[in-house]
Amino acid sequence: MVTLLNLKVVAAAETIRENNMNITGTIAVSIEKSHLFQEQKLKDLLRYISINSPFYRELFAKHHIEIEAIKTLADLSALPTTSKEDLQQRNNDFLCVDPLKIIEYTSTSGTLGSPVTIALTENDLNRLTTNEYNSFICADGTAADNYQLMLTLDRQFMAGMAYYSGLRKLGAGIIRLGPGVPSLQWETIERLKPTALVVVPSFLLKLLKFAKDNHIDPNHSSVKKAVCIGENIRNTDFSYNILGKKITEAWDIRLYSTYASTEMQTAFTECSEGHGGHLQPELVIVELLDENNRQVASNTPGEVTITTLGVEGMPLLRYKTGDICIYFDEPCACGRTSLRLSPIIGRKKQMIKYKGTTLYPPALFDLLNEMDDVLDFVVDVYSNEIRLDELLLHLVPLDYSKACDNRIRAYLQARLRVSPHVMYVSMEEIQKMQVAEASRKLIKFIDRRI
Ligand SMILES: [Zn+2]
Repeated sequence: MVTLLNLKVVAAAETIRENNMNITGTIAVSIEKSHLFQEQKLKDLLRYISINSPFYRELFAKHHIEIEAIKTLADLSALPTTSKEDLQQRNNDFLCVDPLKIIEYTSTSGTLGSPVTIALTENDLNRLTTNEYNSFICADGTAADNYQLMLTLDRQFMAGMAYYSGLRKLGAGIIRLGPGVPSLQWETIERLKPTALVVVPSFLLKLLKFAKDNHIDPNHSSVKKAVCIGENIRNTDFSYNILGKKITEAWDIRLYSTYASTEMQTAFTECSEGHGGHLQPELVIVELLDENNRQVASNTPGEVTITTLGVEGMPLLRYKTGDICIYFDEPCACGRTSLRLSPIIGRKKQMIKYKGTTLYPPALFDLLNEMDDVLDFVVDVYSNEIRLDELLLHLVPLDYSKACDNRIRAYLQARLRVSPHVMYVSMEEIQKMQVAEASRKLIKFIDRRI
């Protein structure tokens, strides 16, 4: 009897745990359980959007989709995908609730110019809080930490709000300083002693430069870790890229990479192993798809395609993000079994097919940045007469000698396994190429393909 009773208690505890599934947080859940949970949530989602979303109602009718036939994650492949253009052109038709239920209107830039609105209900905001709470726990956050938020919290920016509410739930200290102004950041670090930062990693280089110029030793500060947003700090083999290297060489802090987007209302966050961002299976289903919308194998680049779970305002089904990543499904050394995503290899639209090799601009930038013989560059892609991609690198060499030219060509051949066209230019010429009227960022990639 005692045994039976104990079993019942265990079963009840399991049920509670499943109802409040926190797979990404602290509990390691089996992959099978996680799949079963996702399948149930997927069925709920299909029912919900087929009733409440004008866009999906129409899409299912057009493709003769019987949602009752979708029972497993494998069945997802029978459903049409959703593109960024759909979300932009039919923005309001994605809304599943009475506008009176909307609390937050967040926005993200669209591919066609005008911004895309993502509307969140109270439940969505709670889901967002859970998402970021899980993320901070994954990135070794505790209630004893103090976080300095070096990012914007207004301008309809979803992430700023997400970090804030996640940290509230965690019980950590929060210093909402906002982006920029290195002097103020350092002054606050010295005064309030944060243990952690949430920051765009390239800004850390600006902080380090300010520290150097003003005789501040960053390694004597209270800061021990940084959650990095918006930019890659690692290569796909998880080693630090040039940005990650520059930061950690000057500052002995632990960096945690994240991958997130407004549309999915979910973040993939690294644990202390730094081996890819962990999926939160209770919040999103992720597929990596090839050009024919087929799931790729692990360790193969594919387009990140997400299905939101538990979103009430604007849920998305098989939404193609345009980001190319690799996934890893073996259990992580941290004990979590959830799938992990590599850093973004590139944007799908920027993929270059050159002499049988697939290349993405970020990888080209990294290898050009790493080369001492190259002082600056612009990557230029165009179509040749038979509409194949051609790759031309405009480079400012260290010097214009034959020896330097040989070193550059040998390096490119070794790293790319193909030889792009190279044109040497002066610093003045490259600076002219890098400035465009419409953009405040320096241009490193020119796409002239037809
Ligand atoms: Zn891990």
